[in-house]
Amino acid sequence: MSKQETKVNKIRDFHHESIANREEFWRREAERIHWDEPFTRVLDDSRPPFARWYVGGRTNLCYNAVDRWLPQYADRAALVWVSTEVDQERVYTRRQLYDEVNAAAAMLRGLGVERGDRVLLYMPMVPEAVFTMLACARIGAVHSVVFGGFASVNLAQRIDDAAPKVVVSADGGSRAGKVQAYKPLLDKALGLCAKPPQSVVIFDRGLAPFEAVAGRDLDYAELRREHWGRQVPIAWLESSEPSYVLYTSGTTGRPKGVQRDTGGYAVALAASMEYVFGGKPGDTYFCTSDIGWVVGHSYIVYGPLIAGQTTVLYEGTPVRPDGAILWQLVERFRVNALFSSPTAVRVLKRQDPALLKRHDLSSLHTVYLAGEPLDEPTARWLSDGLGKPVIDNYWQTESGWPILSAQPGVERTPARFGSPSFPTYGFDVRVVSETTGEDLPAGQKGVVAIVPPLPPGAMSTIWGDDARFVQTYFTSIPGRQYYSTFDWGRVDADGYWFILGRTDDVINVAGHRLGTREIEESISSHAGVAECAVVGVADELKGQVAMAFVVLKQAAPVDDPDAARALEGDIMRLVEQQLGAVARPALVRFVGALPKTRSGKVLRRAIVAVCEKRDPGDLTTIEDPSALEQIKESLQ
Ligand code: ATP
Ligand code: MG
Repeated sequence: MSKQETKVNKIRDFHHESIANREEFWRREAERIHWDEPFTRVLDDSRPPFARWYVGGRTNLCYNAVDRWLPQYADRAALVWVSTEVDQERVYTRRQLYDEVNAAAAMLRGLGVERGDRVLLYMPMVPEAVFTMLACARIGAVHSVVFGGFASVNLAQRIDDAAPKVVVSADGGSRAGKVQAYKPLLDKALGLCAKPPQSVVIFDRGLAPFEAVAGRDLDYAELRREHWGRQVPIAWLESSEPSYVLYTSGTTGRPKGVQRDTGGYAVALAASMEYVFGGKPGDTYFCTSDIGWVVGHSYIVYGPLIAGQTTVLYEGTPVRPDGAILWQLVERFRVNALFSSPTAVRVLKRQDPALLKRHDLSSLHTVYLAGEPLDEPTARWLSDGLGKPVIDNYWQTESGWPILSAQPGVERTPARFGSPSFPTYGFDVRVVSETTGEDLPAGQKGVVAIVPPLPPGAMSTIWGDDARFVQTYFTSIPGRQYYSTFDWGRVDADGYWFILGRTDDVINVAGHRLGTREIEESISSHAGVAECAVVGVADELKGQVAMAFVVLKQAAPVDDPDAARALEGDIMRLVEQQLGAVARPALVRFVGALPKTRSGKVLRRAIVAVCEKRDPGDLTTIEDPSALEQIKESLQ
């Protein structure tokens, strides 16, 4: 920290200490979890950029999430499941969770799963998915959760890479009231695999009739009955032994198997539940993500449970039965902290704002949003509408927990909308020049990079490919072996960070380099806009031009060509005023939806391809293919 800085506050000191006295800092934090055997060294970074945290320590994620809290919270809700898709609810106390996890662990052991073996989950948002994840952790198996409903090709790719001994799946899921059959997708995927697993366990919800393959497919309920009442001993893992592999969502290309350790992850999550999420044991935490994403791993399953909290698992959308469902659940279960995504809030923005006020939200202290850029108008809309703080936090599948965030458990700092606030303790994060690798001063835009070692809880390597880990993440910053986030950022004079989009989302208009994110921010400040995507499209004259696709708050996009043209003009003028004439989009088109991945990220690559009249390529991760069609049509 430089001496010129005048406003030194608690949060900066805290961060500084976490870097300057790294080992002391993390030694102290390690006391948050149970170690069956103490570690002999806090950190081994003798082989950079690899880092091993808590060398020699033995612990277990399942023990810390379940067994450890039994004496205190046996009869208190540990897992609350609500499905507005199938209109069911179940509440599991810690004792019941313990029983279910043990039965699932016995079932996996019975199928020959041993420590270090992989188990792949392809499941909807049901408690059995959580039981299976925790059961894997209990016996030291490595789970790999693949987002339910991913297409066969994606699934086959991941099965081949992880080579699981067992796949646990379900007959189907349901989304927005429509049943999605999983089993046919799974069967097809297994047909595509080079080395399919020996056993497949199906949790039959009675949603989508299927045919079991004799000798391979087994019934979850039957196995559960068979193993009910069994107690499975904990496998005490060395801290660096892998807990799971999670494939990145693939917004930018071939998925990478992000490998997580055990001890570092447990400590990092436990600490974040207090410092970032302002929680304590006994609290109730509700994260609307999916277990197929990193946010679900860290903040539906492991984080809250390791911290002795109640976690809410929700199968449903934010708008069914109506746009107040999230708030209704907050009221009913006395939720203390809610974690959702900007996409979900943008969906709510198209609903009656009075819905934000319909329920008693007195239990709720903060709303957290992550996963994509949170534009200022959206953050303000939610915060004003709820009368609650909204915290934007920035991270990646790779980091496992927030890299940038306000940290109310350390100090309450004023929010600056549009900014995920400050570096989180443990992350030595910098804004560096893409050409020299040097640190950039406040105000300048550069690449967000992290100086290794990555803190506890961050990825330890790419599954089965150490060389690819180094090559992918640590070789793009000139002259330094830094971890690149592949995101642009800037720090303002007061130390607030801003994420300015991905490094591959920069466009070059007549020699001017523009971030599509900045143009999107500008368009989003128009009162009629719910969300938008800006892409750079090849142009003979200017190299590239910006094109904007806008979803309006009013349900129907403008059909009247004159009205559309007038609105297009308004938006172009707005961007010109805010960012200058070079940033003005070449065209603005109104669509009903943006093409997104199933995790809610805009598929810019595909939009660019359509705009350039090219084949959009692999679209298996797309949520709604008609959204891309709409873009195609809007260009005609
Ligand atoms: P892939 O790496 O496979 O292309 P992905 O990057 O979309 O997929 P994630 O790890 O889920 O997969 O997403 C992390 C990225 O999401 C970040 O690098 C950043 O671009 C974006 N992101 C996440 N949170 C925020 C945030 N609060 N503000 C801005 N961007 C964010
Ligand atoms: Mg990424």
